[in-house]
Amino acid sequence: MTPASPTTDTPLQFLKGVGPKRADIFRSLGVETVLDLLYYFPREWQDRSETADLSLPTASGLVVLKGRVLRARQFPAGPSLALFKASLAARQGDVEAVWFKHLNHRFDVFSGLKKDAAPGSDLWIVGRAEPSPSGIRNVRVEEHYLLSNERWPIHVRRLTPIYPLTQGLSQRLLRELQFKALSAAGAASETIPPALARSRGLLSAAQALRAIHFPGSPQELDAARSRLAYEELLLLELAWSLKRRQARQLVKGFSYAIKRTLLTPFRNQLGFVLTGAQKRVINEIFADLQRPAPMTRLLQGDVGSGKTVVALAALLLAVENGHQGALMAPTEVLAEQHLATARRMLRGLPARVALLTSRVTGAKRKAVLAQLARGEIDLVIGTHALLETGVALPRLRLAVIDEQHRFGVRQRATLRQKGGPLIDLLIMTATPIPRTLALSLYGDLDVSTIDELPPGKARVETLRVGETEALERLKAAAAVGQQAYVVYPVIEDSADADLRSAKAEFERLRSGPLASLSVDLIHGAMPGRRKTAVMEAFAAGRTQVLVATQVIEVGIDVPNATIMVIQNADRFGLASLHQLRGRIGRGAAASACCLVSASATPAADQRLKTLCSSGDGFRIAEEDLRLRGPGEFLGTCQHGELSLRAADLVRDASLLAQARDDAETLLARDQGLSRPENRALKERLLELYGRRWNWIDLE
Ligand code: ADP
Ligand code: MG
Repeated sequence: MTPASPTTDTPLQFLKGVGPKRADIFRSLGVETVLDLLYYFPREWQDRSETADLSLPTASGLVVLKGRVLRARQFPAGPSLALFKASLAARQGDVEAVWFKHLNHRFDVFSGLKKDAAPGSDLWIVGRAEPSPSGIRNVRVEEHYLLSNERWPIHVRRLTPIYPLTQGLSQRLLRELQFKALSAAGAASETIPPALARSRGLLSAAQALRAIHFPGSPQELDAARSRLAYEELLLLELAWSLKRRQARQLVKGFSYAIKRTLLTPFRNQLGFVLTGAQKRVINEIFADLQRPAPMTRLLQGDVGSGKTVVALAALLLAVENGHQGALMAPTEVLAEQHLATARRMLRGLPARVALLTSRVTGAKRKAVLAQLARGEIDLVIGTHALLETGVALPRLRLAVIDEQHRFGVRQRATLRQKGGPLIDLLIMTATPIPRTLALSLYGDLDVSTIDELPPGKARVETLRVGETEALERLKAAAAVGQQAYVVYPVIEDSADADLRSAKAEFERLRSGPLASLSVDLIHGAMPGRRKTAVMEAFAAGRTQVLVATQVIEVGIDVPNATIMVIQNADRFGLASLHQLRGRIGRGAAASACCLVSASATPAADQRLKTLCSSGDGFRIAEEDLRLRGPGEFLGTCQHGELSLRAADLVRDASLLAQARDDAETLLARDQGLSRPENRALKERLLELYGRRWNWIDLE
């Protein structure tokens, strides 16, 4: 059955040129219907204006011309390669058109071409000019179209769409299918309510779809792209806003009162005064906790900004109120360090604290689990082990997650589900998100930011030096009783001879340059117990130098460590380097981070320069974003989760702000998006985000 002309819900399989096999390929791209196809956008647009003059190089390097075949023949070009040459007479002069193909002994790879490029045929060719001093003489053909086929104008003499492809699809097929599908675009329903579309001066959906695939001009393309980007961003902002609104209507069914029975003594024995920023975020968190709705708050603060104290204050408020609190760290070393900090700061206070990691085993584990289940523990500190099914936390009301990495919306949802939907959740991150992205990424979270470092911390000087100088500095610091880290990008030697490894260098340093010092080794492949022992020895000052991999990136707090030498520094990312550097400068003594790097690409060079010139995590994150682009910065999975095809969170920041305002206005007038003019918007919203994030329920 082939419908005469497709409609938007026609399954792709019923378009001419798509059989069941191709339909499967399209399905793997998420394209099932004609409408899905129309929303499968080009990744770029090629200017395929006809080449005016063969004596001039073209700006794009692309040659586009129409010619009549004078002669044509095949030549061997190697054991497995053949080429096919046709002399063409074109308005602009004569050219040699060349096609290369891999030979196949089962069939003639040029059989189609021999028909197309027979003498007398009129062809459009699109190709690359082979350089020659006398202008364009040879063109390596990428695509050709017969003038006798009326579809050639889809492909040449225009701004031509180039699609992301996968095995089994070609640009030609995609373009011709899109062209056909566009006849259904008129019926593409408008998602954006008409009044809004008018006030924002937007193209209609049909116009935008037509122009995103086959723009008449660069201006038309721009208008189409921002129309479609705006639609995506509006949907995203609506999803977030609905999620926030719905979350605010939930009632957690327990409450907090600020009693100060624990908080005041805690504050008195801190040994320092809270910074203004710490006080501010503690107030924000306390205000949230006292609301009827569960808290979902992100606490971001640069390394060393003092997030742990803030977390403990929140947890103590829970404990004061008879609730159970949990602090979850990404690694065992860190969990144990948090435990030590908590024990120290809660000395003498009636708060029962316990540790639960996968290293707490046997009888000890049994006892902790039983105590937790009976509600006899007020504050449990642990790792992902806390999420295991055998762990019962009946009085758990506040979970704090000390998360070293950026995480996706999906992971957050999973965590929340594990903890029970109605408990309070505080997520801490030491990886600042550039301001431009924070709102976009954490649109469904409330965000608190510690933007001030505690006083009395010496600045960390960052410099690029040779290894000899770095080790001299290290020895000088050791001579006055300070400690140091030497960090390597990999654990073991590999084929890459330029890359130094922690294990090999540990042997070299302790028997050579650092023989007079006590040197130890830590890396991610060591058993957990061993890692803890090494860390403890270092924290206690029994080891002077710790040779390490990136395992020490996270949260380790040894104030007496003042020197960090980072070897092959060019091999680390900007965010990692900044996190690593955060391990020093934690005490009052001046600290130095020595970047050692024998060779660096221009991009790596730029990273190292940025690091030397700035200690501000936010600025570094902005720069990181600029250098890497949002896709890589966020990780593709997160970008994918947001269903963005036309929009780019960084480039379209101002559209995003518009979309946010418009989403708020729409929801203020029509909370459930139930008015007729908003129905299409609601449908699309549920389609995109309803099931996937299990987020929005709009009955
Ligand atoms: P991060 O935000 O990187 O997790 P931490 O919570 O580990 O930072 O704090 C870093 C160090 O600063 C710790 O040794 C902590 O005790 C100390 N610290 C935290 N707040 C203050 C403050 N207001 N004044 C002085 N030192 C502080
Ligand atoms: Mg920390």
